[in-house]
Parts: sequence; C-alpha cells; structure tokens
Amino acid sequence: MSDLAQIDPAEALHATFGFSAFRGVQEQVVERVLAHRSTLAVMPTGAGKSLTYQLPAVMQEGTCIVISPLIALMHDQLRSATANGIAAATLTSADMDREATIDRFRAGELDLLYVAPERASQPHFRELLSKARVNLFAIDEAHCVSEWGHDFRPDYRLLRPLMDAFPEVPRLALTATADAHTRADILTQLGIPEEGLIVAGFDRPNIRYAIRHRENATKQIAQLMAEIPGPGIVYTSSRAKTEKLAEQLAAATGRPVLPYHAGLPPQERQSNQAAFVASEDMVIVATIAFGMGIDKPDVRFVAHAGIPKSIEAYYQETGRAGRDGDPAQAVMFWAAGDFAQARMRLSEVEDHRREGEKVRLDTLAVLVETGECRRAVLLRHFGEVPPERCGNCDNCLDAPGVADATTTAQKLLSAVFRTGQTYGFGHVEKVLTGVADDRVLQRGHDQLSVFGIVDAEEARLLKPLSRALQARGSLLPTEHGGLMLGGDARAILKGEASVSIVLPPKKEPRGRRGDRSGRGGSGVNPIGDPLFDALRELRRALAQEAGVPPYVIFHDSTLREMATLRPASLAALGEVGGVGTRKLEAYGDAFVNVIRQF
Ligand code: ADP
Ligand code: ZN
Repeated sequence: MSDLAQIDPAEALHATFGFSAFRGVQEQVVERVLAHRSTLAVMPTGAGKSLTYQLPAVMQEGTCIVISPLIALMHDQLRSATANGIAAATLTSADMDREATIDRFRAGELDLLYVAPERASQPHFRELLSKARVNLFAIDEAHCVSEWGHDFRPDYRLLRPLMDAFPEVPRLALTATADAHTRADILTQLGIPEEGLIVAGFDRPNIRYAIRHRENATKQIAQLMAEIPGPGIVYTSSRAKTEKLAEQLAAATGRPVLPYHAGLPPQERQSNQAAFVASEDMVIVATIAFGMGIDKPDVRFVAHAGIPKSIEAYYQETGRAGRDGDPAQAVMFWAAGDFAQARMRLSEVEDHRREGEKVRLDTLAVLVETGECRRAVLLRHFGEVPPERCGNCDNCLDAPGVADATTTAQKLLSAVFRTGQTYGFGHVEKVLTGVADDRVLQRGHDQLSVFGIVDAEEARLLKPLSRALQARGSLLPTEHGGLMLGGDARAILKGEASVSIVLPPKKEPRGRRGDRSGRGGSGVNPIGDPLFDALRELRRALAQEAGVPPYVIFHDSTLREMATLRPASLAALGEVGGVGTRKLEAYGDAFVNVIRQF
C-alpha cells in the first residue's frame, strides 16, 4: 500500500493500471486529493471517475472509504479493483465475510472499503472509523445527496455529520450528472469548498450519434446488429414491447437477445443482467430500469426504439456505450407518434411540472429534427461551446439537405384548420394534393381554397413536414387520431415563425449505408487479425476460469495493442496499455505464449 507513496502519480498509474497517461481532468483531481483538498469532480460516464480515488488510495497509507448507492455497483468495482491488485472489500448485507473485512480494515490492510450510505451513517461505523486510519472519503453518485438531482437518497444527507467527525480526512464527491443547481447543492451538502469543483468536458468523442426515422423498429435494429457484432442495449418504452422486441430480434439475427424490465421476476432479471455483463455479443432489450449500476465498458451500441424522456436521459442512456473508449454507436429511431403521445401525456403531469416537461420535449424535438451536428446540439445543451461539426455523427458524415419549408407548412396548417382540425394526415394530404375521393367530396373539402394547392414536387415534403411539426408541437394529436393546431402554429401561419426541415434522403443503393457506418465504426477486430482472435479466445478461457467478465481481464483495446506490437517477453508486455503489475503477474505468461505462436 504505502510502497507507492514515494513515487509520482504517473508512475503509480502505470504500475497499478498499466495506463500510460491520465485522461482529461483525472490528473487534476488526483493531485488535489493527494494534497488533502476536498473536491467535487463532475465527469461524464466513461471518463474514469473510479481511478481518481483508487489511485490515491493505493499511493497513501490507510484506507479510502467509498460510499456507493448500490450493492451491484460496489461488487462490480470490487472485481475490477481486485483484478488490478488493489486491496479492496465491500461491507454490505450481501457479504458473508463482514467480520473478516472489519479485521482487515482495522489492521490497515485495505486500500478501499465500499459501503452504502445507510451503513456509513450508523454510529458503530463511525466508531469503527475512529479505530483505523482513513485517508479519503469518496462519495460516488454524489448527486444522490441533492433534492435537485434525479436520484435523491435521504441517507446521503447523513454523510456530512460522519465526515465532519473526521475533519482531517479530505472528501472526493463524484458524479456524471449535475446541472449548476445540483452542483452547488452537492458542495453545500457535503461540505466541499467552491474552489473544489472540477468539471470535465461532456464530450464522448468515441460515440457516433445517429437519429433516424422509424419505419420498422425490428428490421432497423436487426440491421444495426448485423453491422455491430459486439454487446448492445436497446431501450424501449414499455415492458411488453421489451419482451416482444427481444424475441423478434433474436429470431431475425440469430444472436443472443434477452429482455430486461422491472416487472420480470427478480431472479430472471438478475440472471439476464449477469449474462449480459459477461457476454461479448449479447443484446439486451430493456426499459430505462436497466442501466444504473451497470458498469460494462464494452457496450458497442445503444439503440432507442422510441424517443427518450429528455436530452438528459438520452445522454445518460447513450453514455453507457463505449466506456472503454473504443468506437461505439448511439442510434435513435423515432416517429411522430412518439412526440404526439408524449404531448398528450403532458395533460396528466402535475401543474407545476408541466411547463418544464414541455420544454424538455421541445428541446428533444430540436435534436431529432436538426440538420446540424448532433454532438454540437447536445454539448451546447450542457453549456459547452463545441466546434460546429464533429465528423462523427450522422449529420456530419452524410450532410442532409435542409430546406426552408415555411410556405408549405402554412399550406399544411391551413388545410388542417379549414378541414376542422379533426382529420388525420392522410385526409389532409389528399385535400392539399387535390385527390377527390368519396370522403373529400362528401365533406365538400374539394371546395376549399386549399384543395389541390400542393404540386407533386412539394407533396414530397408533406410527410416529413408533418412529422417535424408534430415533433415541435405545432401540430397536436386530437383524441380521435386527428391533427389540430398547437404551439406556434398561429405564428407560422402569420409568417412570424419559420420552419425548416431536413429533406428525406434520396434512396440509396442497399448496402452502401451499412458498409460505410460499419467501417471504422464498431468492428472489434477491424483488420481480421487471427492473433487478435486467439488473444480473445485466451481471455475468454481465463475469464471463465476466474468467474469474471472478459473485460475484467483485459479490454479489447489492450488485446488490439498486443496484436499490433506482438510483445514477446514479459517486460515488453508490461509496456502495453492496460497491463499493470498485477495483471502482468497473473496473465503475462499465458498471453506471451500465445503471441509467440504467431
Ligand atoms: P466512470 O466511472 O467515470 O464511468 P470508469 O471509472 O468506469 O468510468 O472508467 C471507464 C473506463 O475507462 C474503465 O474501463 C477504465 O479502465 C478506463 N480508464 C480510466 N482511466 C483511464 C486512463 N487514464 N487511461 C486509459 N483507460 C482508462
Ligand atoms: Zn457531428
């Protein structure tokens, strides 16, 4: 534990984790912690938060107490820490070896001790701490302390008195999600000075964002799965859809696909989750109940089969892709009906929350409808000033045509108005394009001034335009499936607001799109190197033997680097990113042996 105390953080980083450099703000955070200064680090998922307390814990005498809200999360962390040779333990109701853990803690043998806030705030825990040496309080998911945050946990409020009893021990609060309000609240609630706030950039450059119109969810997601062989998460809006879609995708692709939702029997839920975490190619179809507490770094895609609740939710859910830094994709499939339904549900929301919910939907509609860089829209939403184009989203890779459609929108809205705001899109389209079928004639809609005012060329825009207007709320659903005016419809009609739309793509030859997004996208073994496959084979065997998921042994990026550099000795293998001292000892010979055979 203390043998690393004299060396500098970069050396300790390499020895413990095998990483050659800190990422982003990690170094800044670690330096503050080593200087015993309390800190709140706001870092996006995948930025490497755990390292910022694990490394100081290894470098210093004593134990770091890690407060974490979920047992599953703690056990995940424990597994990864142990694999890197860090002396760690959890103290939870699920642990049978609590007595032994307490003994190890008191004897100063632990680098990390994970506990839940309920336990941490009990008097006997405080007493236990006073009999051992604590070098840091790390508070994971720190937004749980704030009522502003979305996961308020009252027990987090009891941490402050505990920590105040140990004024010489610095505090490190960590969270991925915190707006300005929540941040300020966390600082106060946990007694961290304002100058201790460190905020990392929110960008996840390895995630490729794409948002497409939904024609047939099963077909489109099956196509995505054909392009991406690695593990994926598909989010759907209801429990029933989860099971059905899982079945259909399994049938369509032949890949392992399991459902996950809060209504499944606990055992099935747990075993599906465990199977997913351990797998290298499984897809899980889930409601948003899935995610919190799952720390799988090699998720290669996150697909949304319908719209998420908000941009915040979208960012958190898509953030579960590509934590290991390898390329990953986030693809949303949306339909106008998603927005229509969400807007209908607004009437059920409590009065004081309705306006906020409406704004959330409007903002999401902008993201969905934009022809601009998706990443730029997302990052601006989180208060950053990103470059105009990222080069790694659908709109940057394949710039869509954008057209001003204000005049056509006026025609469409006025036709909806003049036909009495009761008909669906199909009827309105007929009126506008001059199709005099029985219903049109019966209602006398062929006599309206809007009858036949849209020509064939312009008619192409009607459908995407109607979608766009529904997304932004200028057209709202009626109870009986018709359309009525809403939002800024009147302003559009008066020429006070404009409407631009993303043009529907010209039909591309089949296959071309797939090829393009597959390449440099998410292939695990892009060059088809047989050595890489052999290394994965070995990793799979070792993982099975140790009863851990393959990524706990080594990440794909580490295996790829091995395949490229072909280190033929233990010393050379130790230079590969991700190979720390402990893993070199445990697995080095096995991997060198395989490499030598190629
Ligand atoms: P977070 O908790 O912020 O979501 P994690 O702590 O789980 O992120 O780290 C995400 C992944 O990034 C982990 O698999 C970890 O091994 C890897 N990682 C963290 N720091 C570095 C680094 N400096 N260099 C390379 N990989 C890193
Ligand atoms: Zn972009």
